[in-house]
Amino acid sequence: MNTTLKTNITVKEICEGFEYNELEGKGLFGLGGKLTIQPEYQRNYIYASDGGKREQAVIESILKGYPIGLIYFNRVSEKNLEVLDGQQRITSIGRFITDKFAIKDENGLPQNFSGMAKDKKTKILETKLLIYECEGTETEIKEWFKTINIAGVPLNNQELLNAVYSGPFVTLAKEEFSNSQNSNIQKWSAYIKGSANRQDFLERALEWVSKGDIGAYMTKHRYDKNITELKKYFNIVIDWVSKVFTDVEDEMQGLEWGRLYAQHHERAYNPKKVSEAVQKLYADPYVKNRKGIFEYVLGGSNDTKLLDVRIFDDATKKVIYKEQTAKAEKKNESNCPHCALGHDVNKAKIWKLEEMDADHVAAWSKGGATTAKNCQMLCKTHNRAKGNR
Ligand SMILES: [Zn+2]
Repeated sequence: MNTTLKTNITVKEICEGFEYNELEGKGLFGLGGKLTIQPEYQRNYIYASDGGKREQAVIESILKGYPIGLIYFNRVSEKNLEVLDGQQRITSIGRFITDKFAIKDENGLPQNFSGMAKDKKTKILETKLLIYECEGTETEIKEWFKTINIAGVPLNNQELLNAVYSGPFVTLAKEEFSNSQNSNIQKWSAYIKGSANRQDFLERALEWVSKGDIGAYMTKHRYDKNITELKKYFNIVIDWVSKVFTDVEDEMQGLEWGRLYAQHHERAYNPKKVSEAVQKLYADPYVKNRKGIFEYVLGGSNDTKLLDVRIFDDATKKVIYKEQTAKAEKKNESNCPHCALGHDVNKAKIWKLEEMDADHVAAWSKGGATTAKNCQMLCKTHNRAKGNR
């Protein structure tokens, strides 16, 4: 059996002649008809079933230059290929390019392919996918596929990239970042998840210096005989994190430090004040997402969404709803206090419980507690408009 690694096939080529069968939920063909995306026996498209989060993530990864993983083709005849693994990803891309779904842009607004800026479109279309093409009998292919993907440990993206771009640069980079004897590994592990063996430190170092476009960076530096820039940038990020945050917490491991550094390193921080803020949030029972504490503090302690602050429970909501509604009915005004102040048709509207959301009267970020005393029910529109909790 033969396997060949292809690194030059673009999204544009894959999606040429893309057809999607709406009834069966299948991506059918690509590569101008030569590629069968979903052979009959394979499962149907499921990426759209979770509200589209996964198919949107595929497109967002491409736009950020993140790898979307290995794809396997099986050569069934001289002219025809079949997708062995990667149907869901290819179908996501094909569906996006044919405007079957939208992603959210920087402002949270839906954005479909045909309405995108030209440079973004080009970026998507010219992205090259990593494709393993294999050729052999059905038994051989099934065996091989089982070995590489299930029984064995599959090659991860960075391992594959190291193979594709092998040369002096990769050799030096692995000596530094993939060497479990390196005495810095312990320090790095406070901030980076994974292991030296599986190339996780190297992957982060490359991701940070390349702002997410690892493949392009490796192509450009493939024949370099030094890793000065890579090493320097990595150390700058690590030093910055360890200076700003003097305490080391478990939740710091695996955060997107490269992005956080790029966004915030020009601000001045007082490590003592930062530490106090972090400890206070760690002690706050309303903070559900401790991983978000660091970005929250870096950003000036405004974006409470990052903390996933504990919300009011259903019992509290019901009690407050009843009280508010009874009072409102007596006064013949809306049970949403904001609607009641207005002058439109909703001035006297009595909303149903499920049409309302609980709101912190005093915002949590200003010290307001998640208790019945600090709870009011607002209609969904007004609650959304209020935003900050
Ligand atoms: Zn209202």
